Amino acid sequence: MVRTNELTRLLGAICFAAEKHRTQRRKDVDASPYINHPIEVARILADEGGVTALEHLQAALLHDTIEDTSTTGDELESRFGPWVRALVEEVTDDKSLPKAERKRLQIEHAPSLSAAARELKLADKICNVADLGRSVPKDWPLERCVDYLEWAEKVVAGCRGVNARLEACFDETVRESRRLLLNRAAEP
Ligand code: NDP
Ligand code: ZN
Repeated sequence: MVRTNELTRLLGAICFAAEKHRTQRRKDVDASPYINHPIEVARILADEGGVTALEHLQAALLHDTIEDTSTTGDELESRFGPWVRALVEEVTDDKSLPKAERKRLQIEHAPSLSAAARELKLADKICNVADLGRSVPKDWPLERCVDYLEWAEKVVAGCRGVNARLEACFDETVRESRRLLLNRAAEP
């Protein structure tokens, strides 16, 4: 049974993330509200991964706030505590680096992340890979989508050993998204 205090703190993280991402959109053709993504990542962690720790779910809701908005680590710590701040920072790319380098570092760093960060990465990649299967971003040729799936598989290879259910969910999701993308590309 989730305590009222915990529900309030979970809802606080949703509201904080919604406010921070309020002007942003996802890359799908409908340009869905960005907040759909962190909410779905938290759902995957809880529902597919069986994760129940409040702070872990709060970090999932907040995982893109430092990377993609003006949110600071200090701000997260004062609102949600040092553990949530540390977990969000662990999954945040260094935006001062070129994109290709950031992508390479995600693969290289994955095995040395904490167990909680590896679970969060798994849920994040499940969500993005599922999104690509549902709706290809405008101006993304098939090759770029396939490259993304391959890169996600390499990051996830370094996240294995922490949550068998999330790993199985990723494997199934990447298989299904690859099938959908290739089938659509083969359509006349
Ligand atoms: P990007 O890094 O540009 O986009 C993928 C990221 O966008 C995801 O990790 C996710 O991050 C976020 N995202 C938002 N909406 C969606 C959605 N609907 N589906 C999936 N992800 C979404 O993609 P690439 O890895 O392809 O590109 C990396 C760099 O290389 C870019 O600079 C790009 O311009 C360049 N490039 C790459 C090509 C390729 O073939 N790979 C071709 C041409 C250029 P989050 O979880 O943080 O929201
Ligand atoms: Zn994300």
